[in-house]
Amino acid sequence: MGFTVAIDGPAAAGKGTISRAVAAHFGFAHLDTGLIYRAVGKRVLDGEEPLDVARSLSAEDLDALGLRTPQVAQAASRVAVEADVREALVDFQRAFAMRDGGAVLDGRDIGTVICPEAPAKLFVTASPEVRAVRRHKELLETGHDAGYDSVLADVRARDERDRTRATAPLKPADDAVTIDTSHMSIDEAVAAAIAVVTKARG
Ligand code: C5P
Repeated sequence: MGFTVAIDGPAAAGKGTISRAVAAHFGFAHLDTGLIYRAVGKRVLDGEEPLDVARSLSAEDLDALGLRTPQVAQAASRVAVEADVREALVDFQRAFAMRDGGAVLDGRDIGTVICPEAPAKLFVTASPEVRAVRRHKELLETGHDAGYDSVLADVRARDERDRTRATAPLKPADDAVTIDTSHMSIDEAVAAAIAVVTKARG
């Protein structure tokens, strides 16, 4: 049976970078579950019904262009509130988590709902201001010129919606190890994550 690493945390805390590095280090596959919600959100912005989209989502949807925009992020966090949408996306994520050879899944509810039995659980966080600086830089680099204030407002709005929703709210699993990356370099954060997974593998 595969080994599952669950990595949760708020937007732009460094989950994606850490997840990719952990997957590469251990030779595991990686699934960014935020992309699933973004793919649903994008098709909803294009006029489709959230539940229809969630039930018919295919792997190709995750490769769609334009999933990384702030508009799609907000649409993702709105569809992510809907319990039936989340339910329709569970099997895909669990099948990925159980694959032979190991898997890293990152998102908001991996350790709490999708893979509560995962032997390695991390909660990666950072202050809203630090996360907004990072996201702002990323957006500028990809040609999206949103102002810092609007990026910070976006981070706070999504945090609030993700943390307070009734179904699968963003929170650390009881047995998750928290890594606060506010004052860490990427290398330090990756090393801390690899140390947690190495220990969990025994
Ligand atoms: O991680 P990312 O910023 O791409 O996620 C976009 C949105 O999708 C989040 O704000 C959250 O509302 C939702 N999401 C979720 N559960 C996950 C992953 C993402 O609710 N496992």
